[in-house]
Amino acid sequence: MPRRFPDRLVSAGRPRSSRRLRAALLLLPALLLLALAAPVAAWSALGHKLVGALAQRHLTPAAQREVDRLLAGEPDPTLAGVATWADTLRDRDPARFKATSRWHYVKFDDGGCQYAQARQCPDGQCVVGAIQAQQAILADRGQPDEARRDALKFLVHFVGDAHQPLHASALEDKGGNDYQVSLATRMEPEAYARNRYTDGVMGTNLHSVWDYYVLGEAGLSLEDYAAKLDARPWPPRREPLSAPDWAAESCRLVDSERLYPTRRGKPVHAFAGADYSLKHRALAERRIREAGYRLAELLNQTLAQTP
Ligand SMILES: [Zn+2]
Repeated sequence: MPRRFPDRLVSAGRPRSSRRLRAALLLLPALLLLALAAPVAAWSALGHKLVGALAQRHLTPAAQREVDRLLAGEPDPTLAGVATWADTLRDRDPARFKATSRWHYVKFDDGGCQYAQARQCPDGQCVVGAIQAQQAILADRGQPDEARRDALKFLVHFVGDAHQPLHASALEDKGGNDYQVSLATRMEPEAYARNRYTDGVMGTNLHSVWDYYVLGEAGLSLEDYAAKLDARPWPPRREPLSAPDWAAESCRLVDSERLYPTRRGKPVHAFAGADYSLKHRALAERRIREAGYRLAELLNQTLAQTP
C-alpha cells in the first residue's frame, strides 16, 4: 500500500539556533538521500526484489530473451532490478504515482474474501485489475516497446503486492497502516525513523512490520536469501494462477494466520514481542516463493512466442 511512514515528515527536527540551522542545511542533501533510500510501503525493497530474483531463475529461454530485450536500457536490467520501480514513481514521477497508487492493493469487504470486480475493483483500479491490464499490454506485440517495458515492471511489482496479505485485507484500517505496533526488534530502523526506536522497541504499524521487519530481520542479502528460498522444493504450490485468487488467498491469510497480535485488529495499538517476526517469517517466505513462481509462469505464458 503506497503510504509514507508518518515520521518521515518530522525526522529532521527543528533547529533552535542559526548554528543548528547551518548544520541542518549542510546535512540536508544527506537527509534527502536517506529519505529517498527509505523503504516505501508494499513489501520492502527486499521482498519485491526476492520475487523478481526467484521468477528470473524460472523463466523459459523465450521469456528470458524478451525480458532481456525489453529491459536492455535499465540500470539493472533484471526482474529484481526493476521490482521496486512502481514505488519509486512516488519521487520520480508524482503525477504518475498518483494515477497508479490504487494499483498496489485491493480492499475486500469486511467478513468475506470473495472477489467481485464490481465491488472490489471498479474500473480496474486495484491490484487485481492492474495485473490483468498490464499483462494484456505486455502480451500485445503491437504495443510500443516502452509501454510493454513499463507493463513488465508493473507486473513484477504488483504480483508481489497481491501476495502480501495486508495488501488484500478486509479490515477497515488501511491494510494495517492504522494499526499501531510497538515491535520488539534488534533490527535498527533507517535514519529517518530512528526517533521512534527506543531500547529495542520500534514504534511502527502492522503494515510496516510485514513490509519490512518480518523478512528483514532474517539479516540475509538478496542473493543469499533468493538462493535459500530457491533451494526448497520447487514449485512451492502450482495452483492457482489468476490474480483474483491470489488476492483472495492473501485476504484469508489475515485471519487464518492471525496476523494481528490482537483479535480482529482491536484495540488499534498492540505490543508485538521479538517472536512476532520469527513466528510469521515462514508465511512471508511462502508468499514470496508463490509470488516468484506465479510471476515466472505468468511471464512464460505471456512471452511464449518469439516474434
Ligand atoms: Zn506496491
